[in-house]
Amino acid sequence: MTGPRAGRSAARPPATARCTIPKAARLEFGRRLRAWYRRNARDLPWRRTRDPYEVLVSELMLQQTQVVRVVPRYGEFLRRFPTLASIAASDPAQVMEAWEGLGYYARARSLHRLARLTAPALPADPAALRALPGIGEYTAGAVASFAYERRAALVDTNVARVLIRVFAPRLDPRTPRGRRTAWAIAEATLPRSGTVAYAQNQALIELGALICTARVAHCTECPVNSVCKSAAAAGDRRPRAGKSDRAAATARRDPSASADRVVPATRYRSAAAARSSAPCRAASPPTAPATRPSARSRTAP
Ligand code: SF4
Repeated sequence: MTGPRAGRSAARPPATARCTIPKAARLEFGRRLRAWYRRNARDLPWRRTRDPYEVLVSELMLQQTQVVRVVPRYGEFLRRFPTLASIAASDPAQVMEAWEGLGYYARARSLHRLARLTAPALPADPAALRALPGIGEYTAGAVASFAYERRAALVDTNVARVLIRVFAPRLDPRTPRGRRTAWAIAEATLPRSGTVAYAQNQALIELGALICTARVAHCTECPVNSVCKSAAAAGDRRPRAGKSDRAAATARRDPSASADRVVPATRYRSAAAARSSAPCRAASPPTAPATRPSARSRTAP
């Protein structure tokens, strides 16, 4: 599993951010994305649970850490600390010990502090989650969506990259303005139902991990390339039927295997892309708070 999934807490846009994505494009994007996800989702242990505590542990572990390293440690950690109450009842040193090898121990410290504050249950509301130690905008959305199936948007660096490439290719998702716009797009494209929003959020994460990666974008194999402005600018639309599924399968096995037939991300900074109209406007000047340099690595093994 390669490539960082950085920036779990991309700044949420202020009220002045606007998105005017046509309804047909929004619906087609979501429909294609979710259909692809149903066929290609990796079977990861945290996708088999709706337990808020277990979802939170996975989200914390995935910050700055690759999926392949997290999978075995996740099970071990939950066997030792099966509930939030068990964390709260433990000594901080015990939690740190169980975290050993994953690095970024601030996550373990935050988890212990959080458990002492909220055990035995985590709140479902993203704003209440956001107020807890160690939980940023991304993680609050992830727990609300993946555990409680609330209609909550979530944007980390990988999701921001996908959304910006699809809908606003003139922007750089790494800038404050790009991150605000990505949040605005995520909100604008989020399905009304929390259950469907769950699938779409997972699908965005999966697409960023398997197809639209930081290093390469498999545009001709991407399920959403019919609505992607970057693909249109690069002339990479209209994949052959079924190709995206094969690309995802290859990426799951070995992401480096297809590196010679992908489009460098820098290609999207073409004149054609620059001329394309962005559907969303972010507030200017960019004054969003800097995001913490946390990361997740849900990228392919
Ligand atoms: S078509 Fe290309 S740039 Fe657009 S989302 Fe898919 S892989 Fe990314």
